[in-house]
Amino acid sequence: MKLADALQQELPEQAKATRNDLKLVDGSQIGVVGGGPAGSFFSYFLLDMAERIGLSLTVDIYEPRDFMKPSPAGCNMCGGIISETLVQMLATEGIKLPENIIQRGIVNYALHTDMGDVNIETPLKEKRIGAVHRGCGPKTIKDIKWGSFDGYLQVLALEKGANLFQKKVDDVNWDNGKPQVFTKDLHVRTYDLLVVATGVNTNSLKLFPKLNPAYKPPRTTKTFIREYYLGQEEISRYFGNSMHIFLLDVPRLDFAAFIPKGDFVTFCMLGKNIDGNLMASFMANPVVKRVVPQIIYEDHNSCHCNPKINISPAHHPYADRLVFIGDSGVSRLYKDGIGAAYRTAKAAARAVIFEGISESDLKKHFWPACKSMSNDNLIGKLVFQITHISQKIAVARAAILHMVRNEQQDEKSRKIMSTVLWDMFTGSATYREIFLLTLHPVFLFKFVWGLIVSSVDLLMIRLSGD
Ligand SMILES: Cc1cc2nc3c(=O)[nH]c(=O)nc-3n(C[C@H](O)[C@H](O)[C@H](O)COP(=O)(O)OP(=O)(O)OC[C@H]3O[C@@H](n4cnc5c(N)ncnc54)[C@H](O)[C@@H]3O)c2cc1C
Repeated sequence: MKLADALQQELPEQAKATRNDLKLVDGSQIGVVGGGPAGSFFSYFLLDMAERIGLSLTVDIYEPRDFMKPSPAGCNMCGGIISETLVQMLATEGIKLPENIIQRGIVNYALHTDMGDVNIETPLKEKRIGAVHRGCGPKTIKDIKWGSFDGYLQVLALEKGANLFQKKVDDVNWDNGKPQVFTKDLHVRTYDLLVVATGVNTNSLKLFPKLNPAYKPPRTTKTFIREYYLGQEEISRYFGNSMHIFLLDVPRLDFAAFIPKGDFVTFCMLGKNIDGNLMASFMANPVVKRVVPQIIYEDHNSCHCNPKINISPAHHPYADRLVFIGDSGVSRLYKDGIGAAYRTAKAAARAVIFEGISESDLKKHFWPACKSMSNDNLIGKLVFQITHISQKIAVARAAILHMVRNEQQDEKSRKIMSTVLWDMFTGSATYREIFLLTLHPVFLFKFVWGLIVSSVDLLMIRLSGD
């Protein structure tokens, strides 16, 4: 017997007591812990589906943050890239992100290496990605001109009929076989279904094994984000409508990017044991100095944070009357976390409304959506390993640059490396699709050719240097 199944058998007797009525019916009460993208998407879709089939439900969202406030109090700490696939999927749901939320449309990527720079245009011309702030802006914001992405989603859910409790859930328990939540101000409520959407940047995840002993939160790693104020003119001058990505051989660095939006540019960094030294060696790199304006080096006051990001799926993110969505369940590796929140939230809403709220219903109708992302992340890990190794080898960096430059200069050429790189950093393709592209004979031929040309170039440079 699997450990998870054994643990499941240890569920409190009370939790098993009401197995027969594990369906949502008229008047059912649903509690949603966390009103970030996952919680708001879930509430919105659940109430929308309920309305369509004439079911009356009560949905209570617990969310302590006020997204209408600038500063960390209203921010869910993220790069703020909304993938083109998500923008399109939302549009088909009738959700059109308003102009005051999308602070900048990102039309291309600027790839910076020690061998030179290249712009990667959107592989299919219609692809567009959006840059947003999750809250109303960083603590140094002077003038609030744009809206909050999370705030916008929350309003959608409230307009559908959800209730908002601006409170943190402090404890949970079983109450006659139903999940119960507690907040500090002695607010206690029992629900027919509890949806956990707390993300991973919270200590609340340790509460939930009490309700589902088989649940293990996702493993995470620390990242770094900084929001630099430059003003729109300077942002346009230095960063334009491009996301700037650095492919550098800096020890412990995996990924660094500057994302322009409104009056700010957001800096995101992934790496091992991120600390001040890693940041200092990145900023001191000549490539970064060439791209980034001096004002950024002089800004010591900007809003910054060290949010965690998922590197593995949660274990067993469902039980009778309980489901974990968004980051607290399963997300996509290093990209499109908001898209993943949308997918798991919608899959959960559909499962609980049309199939049931028992563990077996959720396993059959919710878990497959998580499982396919989690399987894809395994391929993602391999793809990142390959990228990581290429980043460390000068000739590989040069070959990538050579290939992308040729593709971008020749209108008619097949933009295979450009597509691989574009898709790596947006949510537009699965890791499986990206990996398959790298096995394509055209890709392999062009890459090997790039390696040969780059080896010769590097040798010539070395010889002429001697
Ligand atoms: C450095 C970095 C860059 C990223 N960049 C991007 C990007 O560019 N694009 C992208 O799509 N994704 C990005 N992500 C991932 C993205 O931020 C997450 O995947 C996404 O926010 C997940 O949404 P969520 O609703 O599951 O969790 P969250 O956004 O974390 O929301 C959880 C909510 O739950 C609330 N909460 C927590 N505990 C409790 C409690 N006890 N009671 C009540 N409420 C509670 C919190 O206040 C919060 O509002 C990035 C992540 C990192 C770390």
